[in-house]
Amino acid sequence: MRVREAQRLAARILTKAKRDSPALSARLLLAKVLATDRSGLLLKSEEVLDRKQGKAFFALVRRRSRGEPLAYILGSREFYGLDFQVNASTLIPRPETEHIIECVLAQESTERRLCFADLGTGSGNLGITLAYLCPNWRGLLIDISASALAQAKANTARHGLEKRLTCLRADLGSLPLAQQCLDVLVANPPYIAHEEKDLVMDEVLNFEPHLALFADNHGLAQLQAAIDEASHHLLPGGRIYLEHGAEQGEAVRNLLQKNFTEVSTIRDLAGHERVSFGRLKKNSLILTKK
Ligand code: GLN
Repeated sequence: MRVREAQRLAARILTKAKRDSPALSARLLLAKVLATDRSGLLLKSEEVLDRKQGKAFFALVRRRSRGEPLAYILGSREFYGLDFQVNASTLIPRPETEHIIECVLAQESTERRLCFADLGTGSGNLGITLAYLCPNWRGLLIDISASALAQAKANTARHGLEKRLTCLRADLGSLPLAQQCLDVLVANPPYIAHEEKDLVMDEVLNFEPHLALFADNHGLAQLQAAIDEASHHLLPGGRIYLEHGAEQGEAVRNLLQKNFTEVSTIRDLAGHERVSFGRLKKNSLILTKK
């Protein structure tokens, strides 16, 4: 079978399986098998796939038609213009999470020396993007999952940022950090309520790590934990930036009001409240940790 025929057949299989962007997926999967890119694929379109290539290609097409997200099959996803390798323990970076980066860049001086933490870093997309864009910043990439953290570490190395980023395995709620040591804290914590599991797409539910998706207390438990950590570890005047669910804006603002000022929320491109941020009050109440 020729390359272009294989590509067309795969697109038909994926269309029948009702997967999104079937033609694009077929092209990307074929490019992966042939270790080439879009233009390389065009050049090879009349070539004949050998048996091994054909077998490998249709095995990937089968994985996609059964619902496995393309990013896991390809092993990577683009975020804010950078490429991030992902594995089954990391969430696939989402476009709406890019609003955190935009908010941070709009509020902070990108020139000054600054120390930040990315809580629940997953593939490292948030922290690595910030360090990549701001050469004077140093950061901690924190996650409870060892295999997510290994991926964040590998992505840190791929982007040449080992000198300014440290990976740390820790749980939100018991971060082994000094009080008041951070200027900025970002997090896209798990925020889907367990009760809302039924509303989550099968592709997400069956393949993405539940640890990175779901949280107790109507989905607010980890957002609350991140805010508590920020109250301890941010310097007075430091800022927290949180992604949350479309319906959680008001609850998150209420949680922030206690210790934070200049609390504000921005909407994503779909018009949903998505990222809230605030500035730690100078006289914030620093609670002693349990
Ligand atoms: N920080 C990663 C992201 O924004 C992972 C988030 C998570 O695991 N909940 O995609």
